[in-house]
Amino acid sequence: MITLALSKGRIYDETLPLLRAAGIEVLEDPEKSRKLILSTNQPGVRVVLVRATDVPTYVEYGGADLGVTGKDTLIEHGGQGLYQPLDLQIAQCRMSVAVRADFDYARAVRQGSRLKVATKYTAIAREFFASKGVHVDLIKLYGSMELAPLTGLADAIVDLVSTGSTLKANQLIEVERIMDISSRLVVNQAALKLKQRAIQPLLDAFSKAIINPPVPT
Ligand code: ATP
Ligand code: MG
Repeated sequence: MITLALSKGRIYDETLPLLRAAGIEVLEDPEKSRKLILSTNQPGVRVVLVRATDVPTYVEYGGADLGVTGKDTLIEHGGQGLYQPLDLQIAQCRMSVAVRADFDYARAVRQGSRLKVATKYTAIAREFFASKGVHVDLIKLYGSMELAPLTGLADAIVDLVSTGSTLKANQLIEVERIMDISSRLVVNQAALKLKQRAIQPLLDAFSKAIINPPVPT
């Protein structure tokens, strides 16, 4: 049996066509059922639903053999114990710095001011500002980063941006693009050796499907 860890939402939705390309159909709809373990048309393959930030942990400790996780989540986790064979090129977005439209970010950086930065992505933010030589006080948040500059909690946020409409709706502007983000396939290193006969065909089908993206249904 191989177990694939997915998080509900964007990653689940965008992984389904890749699974389909590998001949795997998930038999339950996670939006309609409360089940956390979903069976598939292949008796040897099941899907477990976990929180996005928990996917690398499940795979690292063997709670799942494989998983799909954002590059953001992977960097924050550290990636230890994980084999990362494929960039699936799904759930694409970018990691950016945003500030209130009336905050002069360029000037603050030029003057060497200490910036208060709110983010869920403390490792990425710390590394980015250190590489720029900007001193920051990082404030760890778990959600709704956009609110932080609006309430005076922070001068800036580091968050994921795709269309920019959430920033715009909250009168924030993007002032730096830190990196492009997409989701990766991660595999437990022991499982890759012990279950290679089951896992390798999946890797092959996924990499073929990335080069020739299936039409979403
Ligand atoms: P939870 O919903 O459990 O609080 P989360 O908010 O961290 O967790 P999602 O918002 O579902 O989880 O994001 C999961 C992954 O999807 C992220 O790690 C990222 O790689 C990707 N992602 C997040 N936001 C976007 C976006 N706007 N566009 C494309 N991909 C995104
Ligand atoms: Mg979410």
